[in-house]
Amino acid sequence: MTNTTPIHKVTSRKLDMVYVKRDDLYPITGGGNKGRKAKYILEKCTSDGCNAVVTCGGIQSNHARATAIRCKELGLECSIVIHAESKEKSSGNLKLLELLGVRIVYCEMKDVAAVMDAEMLRWSSLGYSPFYIWGGGHCYEGTLAYFDAVKELKEQTNIQFEAVFVASGTGATQAGLHCGFKHYFPDAQVYGISVAREKQRGYEAVKKSVAEFIGYKNLDISYLDDINFDDSANCGGYEQTNAELLSLIESVATSSGIILDPTYTGKAWLGMENYIKNQVVRSDAKILFWHTGGLLNLMA
Ligand SMILES: *Cc1c(COP(=O)(O)O)cnc(C)c1O
Repeated sequence: MTNTTPIHKVTSRKLDMVYVKRDDLYPITGGGNKGRKAKYILEKCTSDGCNAVVTCGGIQSNHARATAIRCKELGLECSIVIHAESKEKSSGNLKLLELLGVRIVYCEMKDVAAVMDAEMLRWSSLGYSPFYIWGGGHCYEGTLAYFDAVKELKEQTNIQFEAVFVASGTGATQAGLHCGFKHYFPDAQVYGISVAREKQRGYEAVKKSVAEFIGYKNLDISYLDDINFDDSANCGGYEQTNAELLSLIESVATSSGIILDPTYTGKAWLGMENYIKNQVVRSDAKILFWHTGGLLNLMA
């Protein structure tokens, strides 16, 4: 079985045409970039000989859902530490976590690290070898998954992409794509569109991931150049939306059948349209929108 996701040509709204890399269709329930990352991260976990996982996330975390599903596929124990102010009704990703029957521990944001440490100790004391995964799957394997995803793209098409847009949160996905495009499509420019962080903090995080990655992989130091992190479409922060964003999601769905979500991919698409509107990127350029998923965020 192959995990290769399709590339679709999409004509929508004011855009002439863009290509869409459909990682929303990545083969895991709910799809998305966290599925691609989780595959790599849990391969590391099992190759390290571990048999329980501890990770964390918000109540609608795609990372938590993808990790929980993979753990069940692989027969691993799993603790998900959720930082939430109050327990919400079961919907979206949370509903799937409950259905999967993984261990869910709620706590305040400030206590996440301590509660995760306690979960690690709990599995050890029960005789397991636990494996720790940072929130969002922010780690080398997560970045590697996206470096390799560009290799997948290269094997799939001869198109010489010029501009690539992706929703950027912790920055691991962007860092992997950035290095991957530098390596496999050196003429392409990757634009990370912030879903939350302001420019400086987001840029530093991507740069740190890129620096670590080129260190591990012995890649060219020039890959540190041209990191683009744009915060102009973040709509005020994580899970914040506005009327423009919601109407864009509707109009993209209506005109193309592509389903975006208000937390991640809608913002990335909005950012992409702004780059074209402001003529930073030509509308007739070979543009790739890397769709990272988010369906369950839309449904929550
Ligand atoms: C987590 C997430 C992102 C951001 O990925 P990072 O690697 O954290 O930058 C983008 N889109 C979706 C749908 C996500 O769940």
